[in-house]
This record gives sequence, structure tokens and C-alpha cells, in this order.
Amino acid sequence: MSADSRERTRPDVVLRGGHVIDPKAGTSGVADVAIGGGRVLAIGTDLASDGAETVLDVTGRYVVPGIIDMHAHVFHTHRRSGLSLEPRVNTFSSGVTTVVDAGTSGWRDFVEFRTEVIERAEIRVLAYVNIVGSGMGGEWEHEAREMSPGLTAAMALEHRDVVVGIKTAHYWAKRPFDADHQPWTAVDRAVEAGERSGLPVMVDFYPWLPERPYPELILNRLRPGDIHTHVFAQQFPVIDERGKVYDHLFRARERGVIFDLGHGAASFWFRNAVPAVGQGFVPDSISTDLHTGNVNGPVVDMAATMSKLLNMGLSLEDVVARSTVAPAREIGRPELGTLDVGAEADIAVFAVDEGDFSFVDCGRTRLPGNRRLRCVLTMRAGKVVYNPQGLELPTWDRAVTPQQ
Ligand SMILES: [Zn+2]
Repeated sequence: MSADSRERTRPDVVLRGGHVIDPKAGTSGVADVAIGGGRVLAIGTDLASDGAETVLDVTGRYVVPGIIDMHAHVFHTHRRSGLSLEPRVNTFSSGVTTVVDAGTSGWRDFVEFRTEVIERAEIRVLAYVNIVGSGMGGEWEHEAREMSPGLTAAMALEHRDVVVGIKTAHYWAKRPFDADHQPWTAVDRAVEAGERSGLPVMVDFYPWLPERPYPELILNRLRPGDIHTHVFAQQFPVIDERGKVYDHLFRARERGVIFDLGHGAASFWFRNAVPAVGQGFVPDSISTDLHTGNVNGPVVDMAATMSKLLNMGLSLEDVVARSTVAPAREIGRPELGTLDVGAEADIAVFAVDEGDFSFVDCGRTRLPGNRRLRCVLTMRAGKVVYNPQGLELPTWDRAVTPQQ
């Protein structure tokens, strides 16, 4: 080996002794992770002896790919709604390294979102473009003339480097209907934009009118790869009167429709979720729908949301998979959510605390549990961005104070 190549492979950081879970590789076990040049260099044993600049001891902790929150709202400079948070809020502190804005902006104001937020954020921000031109936050979300498949698809394709799909939300299909304004206008136009752009559609839906039954959405209107977010909201037929999961959910899953948690302020009912998960209907991906209306509860962050699924009986490996490799696949970014050698070093380290805990849903009920995920370190592209315990620091009494 030449001096040059030794130089290149010398790690900047080694995470030593943690339990590494990489769902894409199907691995779960104790290993070191070496990081250099912003990328994963190696996973194996005794990598700390390779002369790394920094060695962080994470023994007893879980080292996982950076978490992807595929449904949140981060267009905080948006003038018309107070919905969004700055993308730094409750993300790095929860192991999240990629946050996907779910259609806060539409085809009219996406460029503003890109220049004001996406390009300035330290965290990776990706986005769904709303089929509604002015995005979320007002009465215009019900106006059919605001929904343009052509303009939405064009905007998505022009910004394909950061756009992962098309979003429709908040369309109540209020009566009276006319030629333009129909029960399925928002969904159908979003799917048409998806067809034109070759991108998946994420749907937030209200089956309140008899013309808009939920099975019609997931069995006929959505395409394989399209995503129904908020799957465990109160308004969906998830559990029948005998306590069984409705067959339409399994049939929709068989035809390739994706179900995302999308916790939100009103969209995660334990009365739907716990029986469904117990019967094997688990959301494909776990996401928060984090915004100003739920950041202080009931959502809080991804770690809290993931902990809820953990305490419904999912394994830690499964919870991590549905928060990393699964959303990466759903948004068409298979290079994310993995610890592949050569991948950008987006990494989260969690402690799993044991004790008596309690978790809250959107239906004013709680779930008792005995395990809670707590993020102790987050790296974004190889850089430590969250380290509340000061993993590499000396204790205060051993610090050398520079001379004034
Ligand atoms: Zn949302």
C-alpha cells in the first residue's frame, strides 16, 4: 500500500464498540464504524487502531443509518401559514439527517422554498410538491383551479435533485360539485402529475363523503408505489367491529400501495394502530408530520414516534428499517438510509432506556411501555451535528485552561 492510499483511508472518526444495525445489509451486531471524507469507510472489528483522529466510544449504544423523516413541514419562511418549523428543530436531536417536506409548497411557490430553506439547511431537505399552486395553509386548498398536473410535474422535474414526489392534502371535496370540482379532483390530478413526472404521490385523505370511500382510494385510485400517509388516523376504516383489520388494507398492500404513519396532530390513534400492528398490519414507514401544532406533543420527534412502535412489539431492527431503508426506497433514494461502505456518513446513535414510560396518541389516550429511544449522537455527512453528552470531551476537572 502506498503512503498516499494509507493517507486516504485513515479515518477521521471511529465509532467504537456500538451495536450496529444496518437494515439494508441485514446486519445487527457489535462492530466499529470508520468514517472519513464524509463517508463510511469500513464496518468491522478493531477499526479504532487505524489511527483515527477521533475515537468515540459508543459501547452499549445502537449505531444506525441517519433517520429519514419522510413527512414533515419545514417551509418556515412561508408567509401564509404558521405551520412549518425550521428544519433544525427536533431533527438532529432525534437522529434525523434527512427531512422530507410533505407539500407545504406547491408548483407556484416551490422555488421560494428551495432558495429560502432547502439550500440553506445543514440537514438534507427533500420535498413533495403540492398539486395546489400555493401549497398548504388556506381555503385555496379546496379550489380545483389551483390544481395543475402539468405545472406541478414540470416544477418537480425541474427540481428533480430535491423533489421526491407529488402531494395532495386537505381536500374535503365540499359540496356542491361542478364540472371542475369533483369528489376525486385533488387525488386524480395529483396522480396525473405523478404519471407525467414519473414520481410517486403522497396522499392525505378524508373519506367523509359517500362519494369518496377509503377502499376506492387505496384499491383503485392510487398506483403501486403511491403513499397513503396518516394510515392510523381516526377517519379511516382500519379495524372492523369484530376487532379485525379490514381486508382492503392487505389487498391494497398486495397491489403495491405504501402506508406511511404520518403521526401528526390528529392522525395516529392507538385504537387503530395497536390492534393493526398486532395483526401484522405495520406501516411501511414511520414519519412524524412534525409541524408547529404537534412539536410539543403529541409528536415531539422521530425518537418518540419510533418508541411508540417499539412498545407495540416491533423489534428495534424493524423500527430502524421502517425509519431508514424503507423511506429511502419509498422516496426513490436508495443511497440514503444505509451504512454501505462509500455511503455519505449520515449516522444516528441511540440509547434504549429501560423503565416505566408512557406515550401519547392523537386520540387522548396513552400507551404504557418499558423502552424508550434516546438519541445520543448524530452525524451528517461525517460531521458531528448533535452530541449532547460530549462523547469525545475530557471531564471538566481534567481540562487544560488556556492562558489569558
Ligand atoms: Zn403533513
